[in-house]
Amino acid sequence: MSDLPETKSEMVSKKTIETMVPAKTVKLLLRLLRASQPVARIELARRLGINRSIVTDTFKPLINAGLICEEPLQPVNTARLQGRPPISLSFNDNGKYFAGVSLGVRLIQVGLTTLSGQTLAEDEFETPPDSLAAVKALKNSLEKLCARVPDQELTVIGVSVPGVTDAARRKLLYAPHLDWRDVDLATALENLRCGKKSADKIRVVVENDATAAAVYEARLRLKKTTGGILKDFILVRSGTGIGVGLIMNGEVYRGTGKSEGVAGEFGHTTIVAGGKPCVCGNRGCWERYAAAAAASSLYTGDRMQLGKVKPPRYVEIVERAEAGEIRAIRTLEKIGEYLGIGISNVITGLGVPRVILSGRIVYGWKFIRKPLKEAISNSLAGKLTDWSIEPGEPRGAGLGGAFEVAVEEYLSYGFNHVI
Ligand SMILES: [Zn+2]
Repeated sequence: MSDLPETKSEMVSKKTIETMVPAKTVKLLLRLLRASQPVARIELARRLGINRSIVTDTFKPLINAGLICEEPLQPVNTARLQGRPPISLSFNDNGKYFAGVSLGVRLIQVGLTTLSGQTLAEDEFETPPDSLAAVKALKNSLEKLCARVPDQELTVIGVSVPGVTDAARRKLLYAPHLDWRDVDLATALENLRCGKKSADKIRVVVENDATAAAVYEARLRLKKTTGGILKDFILVRSGTGIGVGLIMNGEVYRGTGKSEGVAGEFGHTTIVAGGKPCVCGNRGCWERYAAAAAASSLYTGDRMQLGKVKPPRYVEIVERAEAGEIRAIRTLEKIGEYLGIGISNVITGLGVPRVILSGRIVYGWKFIRKPLKEAISNSLAGKLTDWSIEPGEPRGAGLGGAFEVAVEEYLSYGFNHVI
């Protein structure tokens, strides 16, 4: 409790005590409630290792404001219960919902969700080659979906993008695989009405897709874990390219100052001098060797250059490996080795030894696991740190990641006026 604000004891009123819960604890409690709802106060206190009175103080104003509701937990055997049944807490949706947009290189997915996790509507379409056409299609899709829930109000739109964002998280600054630059998504989407009762603009948050996937994986683990909370990890998302999301001390790390939003672009760091040309203009970038998409050219080798063989996609290579085809197995092992080399670099550079692998590369986990782990073991990071790597979601969180971005924003800022 050392980070509590200093207050003269004689001035401490009941109200002050209620507001003395550190902002970080409040945020963590809100996250944990969302991941575990419906859940009893005592369980939240146990999971965070804090006093139950802190949970009570935090949630009291939110319950009074109708943002969180209380109801009896369903008892296993009512007849055996003594006294009051335990009370659980859940978020009250209050007619509000969130939109998620997963802007992928090939596909755009759009969806609406509530704070309690119910999906209200979904849509998807191929990503137009031109950013202006994509923004127009996106607005149309959102308006169409919002029209399905006319009595409710859109609160925040979370957009996950395959590239670098600006520090304010309003723009996609550069998406190498789409060759899009300076796409101001927030300005394009914030004036949608979507049941908005006030004249306020809709809050729009544009987030890098690997970071969105990291936030998603953090929430999944918050839900599953019964012990400590995963505070520091690296998420490596490998699909069309490679992106890295960083969670440090429980929060997303994006870089500092004017470089905020650039952190995690390890896919475009060089691992082979004078190597294969990359869409970013450089040669020998890590993602040209270790992204799931790199498997096609590794598999076909010179044959593709003759134009006689249509290169198989990553999932097809995994299927061939499953069927015992040696060329497919060797391809995946090579990808695993390159992934391990790059991941060792990331661990060494950041000093964060826990890694979650995400994206469609995970479909081939069975084949890439061993060479990947060997590559890390051989590196300095492998020898000096207590490292670990585990597979995450093969779909790279997609829409789920975009929903997390929207809801995180709401939990961080939307509750401030009450707490
Ligand atoms: Zn590159």
